[in-house]
Amino acid sequence: MLRISSPLPEARLAAVVSFAGGGVDLHCHSNASDGVLTPAQVVARARQNGVRLLALTDHDTLAGLDEAFASARAHHGLRLLAGVEISASFCDASVHIVGLDVDADNATLRAGLQRVREGRAKRAERIAAAIEAALGVRGALAGAMRFAQNPAVVGRAHFARWMVEQGFGQDETAVFQHYLNPGKPGYVAHDWASVPDAVAWIQRAGGVPVLAHPGRLRLGQKERDALFRTFAGAGGAAVEVVCSAHDDKATRRFARLAHGLRWQASVGSDFHAPGKARFDLGTCPPLPPGQRPIWTHWLEE
Ligand code: AMP
Ligand code: MN
Ligand code: MN
Ligand code: MN
Repeated sequence: MLRISSPLPEARLAAVVSFAGGGVDLHCHSNASDGVLTPAQVVARARQNGVRLLALTDHDTLAGLDEAFASARAHHGLRLLAGVEISASFCDASVHIVGLDVDADNATLRAGLQRVREGRAKRAERIAAAIEAALGVRGALAGAMRFAQNPAVVGRAHFARWMVEQGFGQDETAVFQHYLNPGKPGYVAHDWASVPDAVAWIQRAGGVPVLAHPGRLRLGQKERDALFRTFAGAGGAAVEVVCSAHDDKATRRFARLAHGLRWQASVGSDFHAPGKARFDLGTCPPLPPGQRPIWTHWLEE
């Protein structure tokens, strides 16, 4: 079940809401998945940027958490939540579901993630074959693996870094645009976890599921509504409202949606590397007024 904290008095609520931007960051990556900093470096950078509540949410793995917690203990004033970002599929689109404050030892969650990683490894072989055929090159998988600190979570970002190194594009964004996005020659369709499974694994591990960066969904309006219903039907009731993928218009749009559904709203930079995304660690703007911030639960403890 989603943890709902008891309602806060208005004044207290206002204080907690203004805590966002600078204080809270509930979505980021280390080199345990496709970020470039070590977990310890992520924590240190977050603290440097004034973060007081951080969740490390690597793709499909909990492998960075031990190092991150060791580092968090050395950084006074920073509370770290064990997090994960699970790759799921819905109507042929990929959907990312963040789990916050999970029990990293939970067997159900661990087994689910293990299965997703196995699929990810097989997908990498198919991506490599597609890139090699499209570009007339060899060694794509070995090349991507050189950029993957955790070989169990090799992904498109690692291929992109290798392709930039090989001169196939100016930067990762260009390479994604030309080769790795859906419909491009290096893209391969893949069945990730189902949305209900991803939500269930997070909840079995005592965590809170959050629908990540909905502005990035490659779904039509009808399918998107169906996704929201599926997520809610599985027990999900939180969505990222402020994140690097959302411009101000998207933020307002998903804030309205969260408000209408009475869902909790999250804030996360989705930080992968310095200088890459719109917001660095802990530098997201606050939630728009009237939102129910998801982090009241952890700040009230
Ligand atoms: P994967 O889970 O292997 O399919 O890779 C998804 C990841 O690729 C995202 O989490 C981002 O880190 C990265 N990514 C997706 N789209 C882009 C883009 N247009 N430019 C740069 N990185 C991207
Ligand atoms: Mn990523
Ligand atoms: Mn994502
Ligand atoms: Mn992410």
